Amino acid sequence: MDKKSNSQVKTALCYSTYERRSSASPSVIVIGAGFAGIAAARALHDASFQVIVLESRDRVGGRVHTDYSFGFPVDLGASWLHGVCKENPLAPVIGRLGLPLYRTSGDNSVLYDHDLESYALFDVDGNQVPQELVSKVGETFESILKEANLVRQEFSEDMSIQRAMSIIFERRPDLRLEGLGHKVLQWYLCRMEGWFAADADTISLQCWDQEELLPGGHGLMVRGYLPVINTLAKGLDIRLGHRVTKIDRRYKGVKVTVEDGRTFIADAAVIAVPLGVLKSNCIKFEPRLPAWKESAIADLGIGIENKIILHFEKVFWPKVEFLGVVSETSYGCSYFLNLHKATGHSVLVYMPAGQLARDIEKMTDEAAANFAFTQLKRILPNASSPIQYLVSHWGTDRNSLGSYSYDIVGQPHDLYERLRIPVDNLFFAGEATSMDYPGSVHGAYSTGLMAAEGCRTHVLERYGELDLFQPVMGEDVSVSVPLLISRM
Ligand SMILES: Cc1cc2nc3c(=O)[nH]c(=O)nc-3n(C[C@H](O)[C@H](O)[C@H](O)COP(=O)(O)OP(=O)(O)OC[C@H]3O[C@@H](n4cnc5c(N)ncnc54)[C@H](O)[C@@H]3O)c2cc1C
Repeated sequence: MDKKSNSQVKTALCYSTYERRSSASPSVIVIGAGFAGIAAARALHDASFQVIVLESRDRVGGRVHTDYSFGFPVDLGASWLHGVCKENPLAPVIGRLGLPLYRTSGDNSVLYDHDLESYALFDVDGNQVPQELVSKVGETFESILKEANLVRQEFSEDMSIQRAMSIIFERRPDLRLEGLGHKVLQWYLCRMEGWFAADADTISLQCWDQEELLPGGHGLMVRGYLPVINTLAKGLDIRLGHRVTKIDRRYKGVKVTVEDGRTFIADAAVIAVPLGVLKSNCIKFEPRLPAWKESAIADLGIGIENKIILHFEKVFWPKVEFLGVVSETSYGCSYFLNLHKATGHSVLVYMPAGQLARDIEKMTDEAAANFAFTQLKRILPNASSPIQYLVSHWGTDRNSLGSYSYDIVGQPHDLYERLRIPVDNLFFAGEATSMDYPGSVHGAYSTGLMAAEGCRTHVLERYGELDLFQPVMGEDVSVSVPLLISRM
């Protein structure tokens, strides 16, 4: 059989119109250098494609952003590996790098990435809530979620989690709590809202539990996520500061325009920008995307969660994994992650979500840090002021325009899949295209691999060269190195 070498394959180009064409292998432009984009680019590069990654920011990682300005790593975006197990698609990379994880919860915790092994909740006057009450309310919250399942079966129309809760309280007055118990229940709700980055009155009852949780619990990346993305990005042609404004889809290729007017052409494109960016229409598609794709972009929810990271001279708080402030409403509740337990650094991370996160994003960084510190002062009046702080702005940053996707009321869960399905030679990747693991780093990563495989098949089939290139998912998935986990 006449086997041609990869370099002999004739296809279109992947280069800026101002650059010379360097070789003649199949070509792809990847838009966005987050986990999804980098996974796709890595896989296609390793399958001998010519790949250019166009990234609007001056760094890779997207919603994974490890900051070193305190002199040690802290994550302003993702920090947990959800599903500390070998089935996690990221486990082989993390395992091989020998990166330690600090497990904050086991499977099926009512608080998702936490369990109640190590915590301290306080009321707004600084009185600690008795541990037995927190556990008891945790059981009530679990009963409410079970009842929510019954409400879901009964009503054909979708409704919000909040509406379902009012129906449950009418039917089961025994689950309605008063006084401090009510406030603790609001704190549980606040943590649920944090998981979805959205308020309970917008989260879909039909879909809220449709994502797949990998086993093994949730582990904090003790040294931050950056080493992982840096490893995946090594050797790739990544053009930072290239904000894409237009994508022209033609029969035989794509033409991508960036903000300063330069254009790039290739056989296909992988679009791995956040859902918020797609919603904002700041990237024009020519011709327009089909109606089913446009409505998937419009109908899927995008939530907001931020981090206000406070660095103190020394630890003055209890030796627990998280501190919480309970309140009359979930909006008034607070949550602080104690990084000292996992990393040894005197850092607390305040994490508002939903409307509260939106409101705080309107403040200056100084006011936001003060706001978080004021919440802390309420429960620990002798708290000393932070020596440094960092504030994220995932909702208003034009490179993200939201933190992660979630199901809003009245929309089907398959929107994630509709967002993923390619349109001709445009392939879509990113956390919001993951049916099973939306809103996560490993979800984003696996959609990048899926888009790469789809793209590889599509481009090579067109040129009748499918068997000349290796599949994009090679040894990475089969090599397994045990993960380094503390607090087993
Ligand atoms: C505060 C916070 C906490 C989180 N915590 C966790 C966690 O603990 N664990 C977890 O698994 N997940 C977590 N997540 C979610 C996780 O970070 C994301 O699901 C994941 O990183 C998304 O990856 P992505 O590749 O889909 O998108 P992104 O990482 O957002 O990558 C998209 C890239 O596209 C670029 N881009 C945007 N517009 C353009 C343009 N016009 N042209 C070119 N490039 C463009 C962006 O700059 C970005 O680099 C968290 C997210 C946030 C915000």
